[in-house]
Amino acid sequence: MRPTLDASPLAASLVQSTLTDPGTPSATTPATHAAAMPSVLFVDQSGQLGGAEFALLQLAGHCTARSEVVLLADGPFRARLEALGARVQVISDARVSGVMRQASMLNCLRVVPGLFRQVRAIAARARQFDVLFLNTQKALVLGALGKPLHRRPVIWYQHDILTREHFGRIQLSIVKWLVRLAVDHVVVNSQASARSLAALTGIDADSVPVIYNGIDARAFDRVDGRDVAALRARLGLPRDAWLAGLFGRLAPWKGQHVALDALARLPDVHLVLVGAPLFGEDAYAQRLHEQAAALGIADRVHFAGFQDDVPAWMKAMDVILHTSTEPEPFGRVIVEGMAAARPVIAAAAGGVTEIVRHRRNGWLVKPGDASALADAIGTLRADPELAAQLATQALSDARSEFSVERYLQRMTQAIRQAAR
Ligand code: UDP
Repeated sequence: MRPTLDASPLAASLVQSTLTDPGTPSATTPATHAAAMPSVLFVDQSGQLGGAEFALLQLAGHCTARSEVVLLADGPFRARLEALGARVQVISDARVSGVMRQASMLNCLRVVPGLFRQVRAIAARARQFDVLFLNTQKALVLGALGKPLHRRPVIWYQHDILTREHFGRIQLSIVKWLVRLAVDHVVVNSQASARSLAALTGIDADSVPVIYNGIDARAFDRVDGRDVAALRARLGLPRDAWLAGLFGRLAPWKGQHVALDALARLPDVHLVLVGAPLFGEDAYAQRLHEQAAALGIADRVHFAGFQDDVPAWMKAMDVILHTSTEPEPFGRVIVEGMAAARPVIAAAAGGVTEIVRHRRNGWLVKPGDASALADAIGTLRADPELAAQLATQALSDARSEFSVERYLQRMTQAIRQAAR
């Protein structure tokens, strides 16, 4: 399912925050503020909406006056950016886009001509701006390789755990050398991402600024979560069932299969899977349907597809699950669950442990452990008071530690520093 523009409360809220935030420069703030902000060319590899793209959507939507976004692939992300007033250019090459994470030497050689065309095109755009902001790894490669041509300060927002579990040896090696030779400033989305960067490049992890993603609380405030039955009726969900929600693209490492195994141990609970296979993981999505049928729980599993109105879907849930089997670099969905004032059960690895404090503002379980997940769901279901306590603390933490205002303030500060 493709996102639609008008239905997105997050997008609407972003526009609103751009219009009403007097403390930071934007298209609508006085000229003095706008002048103080350097002009920025943002580059992102994806046309789809993953966590890195939602983070860029907020930032680019905030800096529309003096920025442009280059996407290396077309898709719904472009329309979402344009709806916020961002100028977008797609510079794509089918062969380069097709290079997978586990890139072989042969694959790399095949894409060289297309790659240089893209490098030159990005460098030509970058020369028109003060700063080049690279938001993903392919953006890093193409933007940093062009440094001798554009000679602009390069800032990379690093959103990944840079290990062999996630990426191929060649790709990691390219990243290592580009960071050493052509990147002026790196910022990361969690300490876990910083540690992996340090292990790869030898940079001191403590010297890399951690800028957590920010979640716009107003998009969640706008959804009235008190009449849950009405909300569920509107979304086509069962009114009276106890609902566990799992949000995120369908992909093996996101662990939706672990949630299905847990559900098989909990006779009355329903599971709502919100998200779609964004990057070619259709076979995994099909396997999830088959697994639900084989476990005899298909009538209690609701495949909702990609949804724009995540705040409403989250508020319709009794509990929010996060089940990644590999360390999650950050995990926006966790903070969103907290902002929705719902108890969150999350897999304890990577950046997640910087967000969730066990039994204080959420519940941590061992990644990939369906039995522990089922126990945790059972515990919170049996103790609504505990669940409510966790949710209250979670809401407070989401607002204080992971606000969109703090994210934008720190990110614009980093861009200003890069421009000096
Ligand atoms: N998301 C969405 N609709 C969906 C599923 C997910 O808008 O149907 C959003 C979700 O709200 C979150 C983002 O996609 O903001 C996923 O970010 P996260 O950091 O959790 O995972 P990533 O995609 O970076 O691995």
